[in-house]
Amino acid sequence: MRLVILGAPGAGKGTQASLLAEFYHCPHVSTGDIFRKAIAEDTQMGREADRHISQGRLVPDEITIELVKQRIEEPDCQYGFVLDGYPRTQNQAVRLDEILRQKCLYLNKAIQIELGEDEIYRRLANRRVCTDCGATYHLDSLPPKTPGICDLCGSALIQRDDDNDETIKERIIVYHKLTEPVLSYYKKQGSLLVTSGEGDILDVHKTIINSLETRSLRANDSH
Ligand code: ADP
Ligand code: AMP
Repeated sequence: MRLVILGAPGAGKGTQASLLAEFYHCPHVSTGDIFRKAIAEDTQMGREADRHISQGRLVPDEITIELVKQRIEEPDCQYGFVLDGYPRTQNQAVRLDEILRQKCLYLNKAIQIELGEDEIYRRLANRRVCTDCGATYHLDSLPPKTPGICDLCGSALIQRDDDNDETIKERIIVYHKLTEPVLSYYKKQGSLLVTSGEGDILDVHKTIINSLETRSLRANDSH
C-alpha cells in the first residue's frame, strides 16, 4: 500500500498513519518527525527547518521534496509506505506523482481526515510527544500509564513548541491556503478518500481500513 494522510494540524494524521503502517507492515514516514529529529541533532537542515516550523510556516518545497524523495527510495519503502504530513502543497503532490511514475509506481489512496476547529485546538493543547521515539499521547483520550513518561521507551514526554495557540492559528491558516488545494488535486484524480476524525481512535482506524479493503475488493472483482 502507498498511502498519504492529509488533514489539518491535530486531525489525527500521525495517530492513524502509525496504525495503518502497522496494519500494512510498511514504514510510517512523517516529514514532521524527520524535521524534529534533524532539529534535535542540530543539523544544517534542522536549523533551516526550525526557522519555519517555529513560526507555523511550511518548510520550503525544495528541502521537503528532496527529503521525501530520498526517504521513499530507501529499501524499506520498496513495497509501500504511509506518508504522514506530506504533501502539504500542490507542488509537493505533483512531484510525488512524478517520483513514483518514474518507478512505474502510483499512490493507492490519499486519505483526508476531517475534524472541526474546536476539537483541533483541544487535541493540540493536550498532545504530548516522546522526546526519544516520537510516540504521541493525549492527556484525556490517550494518556500514558505513568504521567510524563513514554509507555514504549520510558523517555520524557513534552509538549511540542509549535503546539501553542499563536502557532496553531498560523498553521491552520497555512493549511487552508496551501494544503487544501492538495485535496482538490487528489479528488480530481479520483484517489481521495474522506473520513471523519471524530470518535474513538480505533473506530476511526477501522472505518479507514473498511473503506480501503472494500475498495480493493471491488477493484479485484472487476478484473
Ligand atoms: P496530527 O498528526 O494530524 O497533527 P496527531 O495524530 O498527533 O495529529 O493527533 C493530535 C492529538 O490528538 C494527539 O494528542 C493524539 O493522541 C490525539 N488524537 C488523535 N486521534 C484522536 C481521536 N480519534 N480521538 C481523540 N484524540 C485523538
Ligand atoms: P507535523 O509533525 O506534521 O505537524 O509537522 C510539523 C511542522 O513541520 C509543520 O507545521 C511544518 O512546518 C513542517 N512540515 C512537515 N511536513 C511538511 C511538508 N510536507 N511541507 C512543508 N513543511 C512541513
